[in-house]
Amino acid sequence: MHTPIRSVTPASANVEVIGWIHELRDLGGLTFLLLRDRTGILQVTVNRKKAPAGVLAALAIISRESVVRVRGPVKAIDKAPGGREVTPEVLELVSPCATPLPLDVVEKVPAELDTRLDARFLDVRRPRVTAVFLIRSMVLQAVSEFLWERDFVQITTPKLVAAATEGGTELFPVAYFDKEAFLNQSPQLYKQMMMAAGFEKVFEIGPIFRAEEHNTTKHLNEATSIDVEVSFADQEDVMRLLEELVAAVYRKVGETCAEPLSWLKKELEVPATPFPRIPYTDAIEIAARRTGEPLKFGDDFGAAAEKALGEEMGTHYFIVDWPTAIKPYYAMPYSDRPEFCRAFDLMHPRMELSSGAQRVHQYDLLAAQIRSKGLKPESFEFYLNPFRFGMPPHAGWGLGAERLVMTMLDLQNIREAVLFPRDRHRLVP
Ligand code: ATP
Ligand code: MG
Repeated sequence: MHTPIRSVTPASANVEVIGWIHELRDLGGLTFLLLRDRTGILQVTVNRKKAPAGVLAALAIISRESVVRVRGPVKAIDKAPGGREVTPEVLELVSPCATPLPLDVVEKVPAELDTRLDARFLDVRRPRVTAVFLIRSMVLQAVSEFLWERDFVQITTPKLVAAATEGGTELFPVAYFDKEAFLNQSPQLYKQMMMAAGFEKVFEIGPIFRAEEHNTTKHLNEATSIDVEVSFADQEDVMRLLEELVAAVYRKVGETCAEPLSWLKKELEVPATPFPRIPYTDAIEIAARRTGEPLKFGDDFGAAAEKALGEEMGTHYFIVDWPTAIKPYYAMPYSDRPEFCRAFDLMHPRMELSSGAQRVHQYDLLAAQIRSKGLKPESFEFYLNPFRFGMPPHAGWGLGAERLVMTMLDLQNIREAVLFPRDRHRLVP
């Protein structure tokens, strides 16, 4: 079995490693190979006078980004990456790499994002890009572990659906035999129905589809949503869960991803909990003052307002107590001031990360709210019906996985947090 490059130390005796040729430098009598796998980089040094004939023969036919197998003794050497190098007794070409490369993996010249995405398999070989996806994997693992430890049931809900969740949002239609179906924009209705099923605490990590034509650095047409719903809970309960989850994910990534973080030259700071809560009416005032925009009650926060608020807050924060009119029908209005509802947004200084609320669990109120949004309760019968048969009070949120990774790692474009992003212009690869 071959050894991951990370595990090769000056104390290793004889190792066998397999990887890609990251760099190939010929200095007359000495040839330096840098061998790379997803765990790191290893120097392999061939002394042409002393090397076995098989090693020299392989050296003559390999090129950058070919896959090779190397076997030989390890010794400590100061100037090499990781302070060690291998002197090969065996060097074997496992799989050749064609030239020219569509993308330079060593990245002396930074490539445009579009070029990178076109050759994504090569782009992801670059340590700084590998790092993003190793960390993304750990983020999703940390989220699941955090929720499993708290007795959540992981569910998966349909992505092919007959009706819109909220109306308004644009949907992708799909030909479904002789009917029209849509790609689901959110698991909202299904996770709420599982409260009626008595599951009490559920989560789903899955795709959401939004047919919005926007072309921004924080929107995708296919995104990954981390969705949570909890029975016998109000909005404060699930806000506490959310802030603890975000802090726990940062902590776990900090503890387990030291190497990928170092490739990104990133030091993670775990955000302090509890996050500040700021009422919507105050947030509008601050945003209006800082941007000079004529923002008033009932407006949503545009990009400039979000940025101004983020500068004022300087950390993760919640905007709470939103106007009922601009939140979906399933957000619970306060009984003593129904123009406000128990909804919240979790904000990173750069952008929104999550929206959530205590939900309406009373059938009549929910039907009335659906009507007041100009929608027809009849189109939601499968969803509304469970509210007549013992629906517990409940609350929940949806958290965008790409935005979580993007803000954690200071990525400039959300497309950098997805292997194969889907946007207005990109459906391939
Ligand atoms: P925004 O106003 O920023 O477009 P939203 O309020 O429409 O977001 P929600 O419907 O509240 O989004 O979805 C919950 C979370 O899912 C968002 O806070 C975000 O993190 C993520 N999300 C939603 N839509 C997208 C998208 N198009 N691309 C990436 N992430 C998204
Ligand atoms: Mg939102």
